[in-house]
Amino acid sequence: MSFLVTARKYRPSTFQEVVAQGHVVNTLLNSIRLGRIAHAYLFSGPRGVGKTTTARIFAKALNCPNAKEGEPCNTCDTCVEISQGRCIDIIEIDGASNNGVEQVRTIRDSVRYMPSREKYKMYIIDEVHMLSKGAFNALLKTLEEPPAHAIFIFATTEPHRLPPTVISRCQRYDFRRIALEDIVGQLKHICLLEGIEAEDTALFAIARKGDGSMRDSESIFDQVVAFSGNQLTYESVRHVLHVVDQETFFQLTDLIITNNSSGGFALAEEIVMSGYDIQDFLTGIEEHYRNLLVARATGDTRLIEAPEDVRERYSRVAEQFSEGDLLRLLKITAQTMQAVKFSPQPRLKFEVALIDMIKMDSTIEISTLLSNMGQGGSIPPSRSPGEKHPGSTSAGRSSQHSAPTAAAAATSAVAVTPKAASTGEQMETTSPEAVPSPVRSSGPFSDADAPGNVTRKTNGRTVDAGETWETRFGPPTGMRSAVTDVTEPLREAEERFRQALTSASLSAAGSHRAQPASSQPLPTHPIVQLLIDKLDAVVLPKH
Ligand SMILES: [Zn+2]
Repeated sequence: MSFLVTARKYRPSTFQEVVAQGHVVNTLLNSIRLGRIAHAYLFSGPRGVGKTTTARIFAKALNCPNAKEGEPCNTCDTCVEISQGRCIDIIEIDGASNNGVEQVRTIRDSVRYMPSREKYKMYIIDEVHMLSKGAFNALLKTLEEPPAHAIFIFATTEPHRLPPTVISRCQRYDFRRIALEDIVGQLKHICLLEGIEAEDTALFAIARKGDGSMRDSESIFDQVVAFSGNQLTYESVRHVLHVVDQETFFQLTDLIITNNSSGGFALAEEIVMSGYDIQDFLTGIEEHYRNLLVARATGDTRLIEAPEDVRERYSRVAEQFSEGDLLRLLKITAQTMQAVKFSPQPRLKFEVALIDMIKMDSTIEISTLLSNMGQGGSIPPSRSPGEKHPGSTSAGRSSQHSAPTAAAAATSAVAVTPKAASTGEQMETTSPEAVPSPVRSSGPFSDADAPGNVTRKTNGRTVDAGETWETRFGPPTGMRSAVTDVTEPLREAEERFRQALTSASLSAAGSHRAQPASSQPLPTHPIVQLLIDKLDAVVLPKH
């Protein structure tokens, strides 16, 4: 007997067998049970998720004389003929190669005749978005008032390319991308039936490569089974598909945690010499950081598509990073993907990016910094309490510097995000006495935050969207006094920052010659709070 590929052999033959499209099949089943059949359906969704399969099952269910509860019997002549694609009344058309007005005219002429044997005459048009504009127009009239025996089912991966006039005449069903778990579940089922022993990690690797498409995953599955026989291991999948080992990504995060740049060069060498595509590798890194961010931000690993043991590992590693660090790692990765694409020396860009990640400075929330400053002036540890390398605490970080150098370093380091940059500079260069220049003082509030709607973000405090400058800070008594109103709190804010930074650098250097900030705690003025909110993060050097 000839070999039938898995995707065809295990193609669902009833609505119940269709994987992960419950919202579609349940509606179709109900419409069959209630006898509310429309004349035109639009099935949209990514490739390989069951659109054509569902259309065929629907055709069987409507025409099968033995249908029970809306499901076809799959044994009668009608069901068998439709499954094999030789039923004369179920016409499957490939829209990509039959996209002209002429072909649609043929359909229009033939649709008038009664079905030769079945109850309904059905037209299943795949890739319907490929039809020309004229073809769609030729179809419109038939679609609006088709004969009672005719049903059209359109399948497409790009529904936005269909004219609205066509979409409005159809019942639309959006098929979803299939979750990794569902694909793995189906592959496991197939393994069971085929007598194949497979590792979980191997099936996950196949499903990940399939990218949400059941058909793609099943094709890859066939390919790997052809290579490795009835024992499906992660190693064999990796070998056949030439995908980067997940272990490599964890290796990279270990290098970042241990600040090991020579390891970074070695890793880059290994990736390039193994012949992996750099772009693919970066995509993998991106997903890796995303998973870490999920684990870190939600404290939960349910949104990570991986086997259970790998999820637990993500949860452990995520403790070593702050959310800010992970976001910046993601940013570096995204920038590198762009740079690599257009660079004549992609390898160089790739290497530099890896070292950049490993050497990346740690993020500290400005609000955390400030509140810590107020209570005795120590900088919180940069990356997590679990950080392995020495130099993670403030004392360790700056111990090599003498006091004045440390002060300078800490001050000059306040400049990362564009928002922080302007204010940081201002704080460095302006002494409290020099502030009252109105132009300068209103600087941070000049554009987006001009006296109008003040809608600021989070930081533990919500600001009502309808809140205005007036309701918050009282009515301005003219432009000049409004400026004066802002100047005073700004001066206070600068003073507070200055104290915080001086204290930070001094305490980091172990010197207490200057007056500690904690001796003169300043109350938080609303505008100071606003200023704190405006600064996203301060970055302090690792050493
Ligand atoms: Zn049947």
